[in-house]
Amino acid sequence: MSPICIFCEIIQGKAPASIVHEDELTISFVDLRQFNAGHVLVIPKTHINDVRELDQDTAGALMMHLSKITKAVAQAFPNDGLSIWHSIGLAAFQEVPHLHFHVHPRLPNDDVLSVYPSAPVLPERHVLDEFAQIIRSRLEVK
Ligand SMILES: [Zn+2]
Repeated sequence: MSPICIFCEIIQGKAPASIVHEDELTISFVDLRQFNAGHVLVIPKTHINDVRELDQDTAGALMMHLSKITKAVAQAFPNDGLSIWHSIGLAAFQEVPHLHFHVHPRLPNDDVLSVYPSAPVLPERHVLDEFAQIIRSRLEVK
């Protein structure tokens, strides 16, 4: 654990948080920023930077709780949909280097996330197949 990680401090009870749920492997709490009410973070208790470092048990627990928290947020707060996101690294504007999923209620035209600044390229199928092969060659499946 990192002594300067705010999320580890929340896990250890050293920093305040409005906790939604906690178990052996995960914890969920209300984000300080409530652009739309109901913004929650779901994180592993292990200090890891991002999904690339997840072990199988923690990954399973995290996805299960992400599903349950999202269902509860959707029922509890006004929304016309929800966004779930996890940023990795500087280019993605990751602010806390401890893996966290945002669960964020969405309202019509709230402009919370705009994914593409302009129309994306739509490559031919053979290029997509090549990308799939490149990724498959690096995939570790047990
Ligand atoms: Zn941490």
